Amino acid sequence: MTISCLFHNLVPVMKRMTIAQALTIRGTGLHRGGDEEIGLYPSENGIVFIKDGQPIPAIPENVVDTQLNTSIGLNGVKISTIEHLMSAFYGLGITDCTVEVKGDEIPVMDGSALPFVTHIQQAGLEDLGREVTPVVITGTVRAELGGSWVEVSPGSFSVSYEIEFAEQAIGLQRMSFDGDGYIREIAPARTFGLLKDVETMRSMGLALGGGLHNAVVVDGKDVLNPEGLRFADEFVRHKILDILGDLWILGAPVMGRVRAFKANHRLHIECAKKIHKLLGSLR
Ligand SMILES: [Zn+2]
Repeated sequence: MTISCLFHNLVPVMKRMTIAQALTIRGTGLHRGGDEEIGLYPSENGIVFIKDGQPIPAIPENVVDTQLNTSIGLNGVKISTIEHLMSAFYGLGITDCTVEVKGDEIPVMDGSALPFVTHIQQAGLEDLGREVTPVVITGTVRAELGGSWVEVSPGSFSVSYEIEFAEQAIGLQRMSFDGDGYIREIAPARTFGLLKDVETMRSMGLALGGGLHNAVVVDGKDVLNPEGLRFADEFVRHKILDILGDLWILGAPVMGRVRAFKANHRLHIECAKKIHKLLGSLR
């Protein structure tokens, strides 16, 4: 079974999936800059993060921070930067996994979701033999703020994203993704930042572990990374990576048309929360 076939028609069939065996992933935390280690374990209980013995289910109401990353927390315990790992889970169709986190955040790896995908593929996937009920969108859900927005409307699955930056290296970028080729087209796209924002972010205690090895850094018309870009439109591809990870907090594939304009984690998650609330009221 490939993920690509899952979203194409109105009756997607997808099985609950977990990982076949436990695995450990180590790396640097993007925002706090510390060494991070996470353990992934097979599970049948959805995606659940654990820190200091506190389980934190990956559900919309447990998202506690969306400033430049997506953090979840419960009972005073918080785990940051879950979005790229969540995106890898989306891409591999993993609905069930326990993620034990030793530090404060999920390691940033190379800034993309590809290292997570590769580690998980090496561990293997296991079909849990139960079907996932997709999140079928029956009405339009919208989140907006200051000209930025995310809208999810009825239809078969697709994500269309548009970003616009004054920096010429980014400019206006648009891309649509229909579920095909996540690992090739989306997973390798790295997170990015503007050089002018780096100092501000650091003064806020963010991006302390960030550098050219785990983010694309842009200064006006220039990309400062010596290796250049992985795709000419790597920036918008990364935004799609982010929104797929953020929407995976719903625990099942979204059957709907997702459109986003200059959005961010805050708006992605606000939309997920609205969808979740709507589903709750329908049950
Ligand atoms: Zn990201």
